[in-house]
Amino acid sequence: MNSKKSTYPIHIEDIVSNDLCAGCGLCASVVPEEIVSMELNSEGFYRPKVKGTVPHEAWAVIKDVCPGVIVEQESSSHNSHLNHVWGPIIDIAKGFANNEAVRWQASSGGVLSALLIFLLESKQVDFVVHVGVRGVDPFSLTAGISWNRDDILRHAGSRYAPTAPLENLLSIMAHTDGKCAFVGKPCDIAALRRYMKHDPEIANRVVVLISFFCAGIPSQNATWDLLHRLKVEKSTVKTFRYRGYGWPGQATAVCHDGSQSSMDYNSSWGQVLNQKLQFRCKICPDGIGEMADLVCADAWDTPGGYPDFAERPGISMVIARTKLGSSILRAAINGKYVTTEPTSIESLNKIQPYQLARKRAILARLMAMRVSRRPTPVFRGLYLLENALKGGIIFFLRQFLGMYRRINRN
Ligand SMILES: Cc1cc2nc3c(=O)[nH]c(=O)nc-3n(C[C@H](O)[C@H](O)[C@H](O)COP(=O)(O)OP(=O)(O)OC[C@H]3O[C@@H](n4cnc5c(N)ncnc54)[C@H](O)[C@@H]3O)c2cc1C
Repeated sequence: MNSKKSTYPIHIEDIVSNDLCAGCGLCASVVPEEIVSMELNSEGFYRPKVKGTVPHEAWAVIKDVCPGVIVEQESSSHNSHLNHVWGPIIDIAKGFANNEAVRWQASSGGVLSALLIFLLESKQVDFVVHVGVRGVDPFSLTAGISWNRDDILRHAGSRYAPTAPLENLLSIMAHTDGKCAFVGKPCDIAALRRYMKHDPEIANRVVVLISFFCAGIPSQNATWDLLHRLKVEKSTVKTFRYRGYGWPGQATAVCHDGSQSSMDYNSSWGQVLNQKLQFRCKICPDGIGEMADLVCADAWDTPGGYPDFAERPGISMVIARTKLGSSILRAAINGKYVTTEPTSIESLNKIQPYQLARKRAILARLMAMRVSRRPTPVFRGLYLLENALKGGIIFFLRQFLGMYRRINRN
């Protein structure tokens, strides 16, 4: 939805106060920490805390790249690889990491981690910047560097909690030589792809962008709810994982005394984590990493037409969106890092019904915001009208009214 001349946003605080911040951290990377830093707010989401005057030039960049202001798919509609629901697709396959440990520990089939290992070992990148646990606090997630296979394995797995992986990207790049691959949520990737147009050095050195399908970021408080349901005290937890160690694997807290408590994926995601998603995710036009070179997802089996979460060896969906992504995927297959078999765009509709429904819902939700005089980000090149029309009028009205009631109930 295009905004005409509007006053939104005048300051970083406008993006936050209108609940449109995705928490990616890019604004905090662009200006010194003394001026903007990312902090968890009381609702359990990372938000920029502005402590000084943001220089005019920095604000001009932030305003042009922030996913709370703009998300743009620049691939032309004449691009034969562009699917209007699922974005640019050169290759689509499902498969798994050939290394058993990677496949076992990773979130789905470990394809994402296997691609990162391939990129490092084939020396196409010198390091990888991605999110993981650093230090002894198992709940502290920050972006850092992986140099080798062991580091990648330590970072494998989905964290259903807020992360701001762009917060320290520029500082990492300033203190490290060489080229890197970056892994982030779709909103992180959309922001970074746009930012690269403003910063040729980063564009030259961050050579591959990898993402995963994302249904939304749960609040940190949802993780505390999960611990409560697991009957575990936060301070007693030594390690924690949301899933992995099998597919989908269980949310598991391992305590210092060796005891552990687990919950299956269907319950942890469906009953706890997805109950506290950030608002920006409800109007996300790109939960599928359209701006990435490569994107991974769960390739659920769909026996009755819907995803089946029964435990089994992990299988990832992998999509190469750019020529670069395609060449990396093909070389990783030839190099025996991953094993894949072809799948189709049609199968995505069954495997990822939530992503399909959300794409169809976004225009109605944005219109409810506009009618309620709430600012909306600019979403360009994402075929929101075409998708809304496919959803039908009843679905549209339900989505419109749901959002209208939600934002006008206070
Ligand atoms: C919040 C969230 C929502 C998701 N929603 C969906 C969905 O709707 N549909 C779907 O198919 N898949 C979804 N996934 C992705 C899915 O869980 C797997 O990540 C994906 O299938 C890739 O699996 P893999 O085994 O190839 O990845 P792995 O080899 O396990 O690698 C995962 C990579 O993701 C990075 N990572 C993990 N958590 C985060 C995070 N919070 N922020 C930034 N980077 C992170 C890690 O650093 C690692 O590099 C979601 C993941 C998250 C974190």
